[in-house]
Amino acid sequence: MIQITPPVRVRFAPSPTGYLHIGGVRTALFNWLFARHYGGQFILRIEDTDEKRFVEGAADDMMTSLRWIGITWDEGPDVGGPHGPYVQSQRSAMGIYRQYVDQLLEKGFAYKSFVTEEELTQMRADAQARGVKSFRFRGVERDWSLEQMAEVAAQGKPYTVRLKTPLDGTTSFTDLIRGGDQITVNHNELQDIVLLKSSGMPVYHLAHLVDDHLMGVTHVIRGEEWVPSTPYHVLLYKAFGWELPTFAHVPNILRQDGRGKLSKRKDDVGANRFWERGYLAEAMFNYLALQGWSYDDHTELMTTDEVLERFTIDRVLASPARWNPEKLKDMNGLYIRRLSTTELVDALVPFLAASGLVGASPGAAERDYLMQLAPLIHERLEELREAPELLEFFFHEVAPTADAPLSYDPAHLVQKKMDAPTTHTVLKMAQERLNDLNTWDKEQIEAVLRTMVSELGLKAGQLFGTIRVAVTGRTVAPPLFETLVAIGQERSLKRIALAERTFTE
Ligand code: GLU
Repeated sequence: MIQITPPVRVRFAPSPTGYLHIGGVRTALFNWLFARHYGGQFILRIEDTDEKRFVEGAADDMMTSLRWIGITWDEGPDVGGPHGPYVQSQRSAMGIYRQYVDQLLEKGFAYKSFVTEEELTQMRADAQARGVKSFRFRGVERDWSLEQMAEVAAQGKPYTVRLKTPLDGTTSFTDLIRGGDQITVNHNELQDIVLLKSSGMPVYHLAHLVDDHLMGVTHVIRGEEWVPSTPYHVLLYKAFGWELPTFAHVPNILRQDGRGKLSKRKDDVGANRFWERGYLAEAMFNYLALQGWSYDDHTELMTTDEVLERFTIDRVLASPARWNPEKLKDMNGLYIRRLSTTELVDALVPFLAASGLVGASPGAAERDYLMQLAPLIHERLEELREAPELLEFFFHEVAPTADAPLSYDPAHLVQKKMDAPTTHTVLKMAQERLNDLNTWDKEQIEAVLRTMVSELGLKAGQLFGTIRVAVTGRTVAPPLFETLVAIGQERSLKRIALAERTFTE
């Protein structure tokens, strides 16, 4: 068991370049669980120094996605905190990063590089032509004095500031998730990365590190795509003379077939898409917690509190997780089943309202009707968005106006091993007998229909099938008797009459 000594301070630091990838929510979740489990703090920081990829409104969207799933932060752009601001562009405008860049320049750990994009492209092409597999840039200015650099800069030549990566030797670091193994990289595999762009904006490598230090981050828990960059970060910590945080690189989530990472381009992985499709936050939380972490080898259904109590970083696997949309759906179904009827109705209203079946805030009568309908589909729902389609015929008639055609193919009324005359008889008889009922309840309806089954010598499935199509317009629908009760006597009879008429016309 890995010993974690408090205090613990972690952060999730998304770049607002679009919607939040569900894998990002998973990384945020692991940070949050870690902080809560060890009684520490969780910080949300917006890393928006890449002006080219900045998307307006993305940061707010991301926060909505995180809150939806139940992740709350102790410090962040909206809630503030002792180390604010928590948005990097604001921190940059305050000059927070520049002073650290100057420190590196003065100590000789960084240099001003005057190479232009065109020159760089040329160098890369030349290297490729020489058969060099990976081009590693080292600028000529590495060996210049501060005065030399200042002189050229004073002529107005744009420059970036680059890390002066050592030419030989190695850098090592350990990773909590990889069992504390050392990862060692040869400096000759590194290059002089940009720390400050010519616009004066810091790049991620510098900005996140300065912020992690200033914000007192103790554990850097982030996606494993950052492993190759970590040696640079270690070099930077050393250059500043700062204590290293503990690194924990969370494995990727692969696509279901294991071929490549879940991708924004190919997969439906925007966090917002999941509530749009009707995933419950609790189900999503449970499923995401299991993407790379496990409590034991069999427990899957866990409440938020149970996950919180059980979450330890040594049970985060180093091997990648696999996204399984079917499993997520199943889990959502299980969580839907756990809802009370009132909770289910509340959860369904936005979906039904969006389809125009009910108003956005249903009145008492509408709500009563929904309380009657929800149990009919409770057992089979996997995504809440399925509800409007499943319930549509309770709200709309099978023929909207007197002369409109039926919404279904009348051929479906005739069941297997039945002929048109028998079907016609069924509909006529059902109409008469159901019309005679004084009490419209499940028991009475069932008794009438079962008597008809034996009188006509049919199979229950055949007769019920005909009635089902007549009143719902579907071959598959919720339980028949309850459906008839919910639709009501008058409307049911009207629909059966319409079906019957197709045999006389
Ligand atoms: N802004 C980085 C990203 O969005 C954060 C990486 C990190 O957590 O250090 O991937």
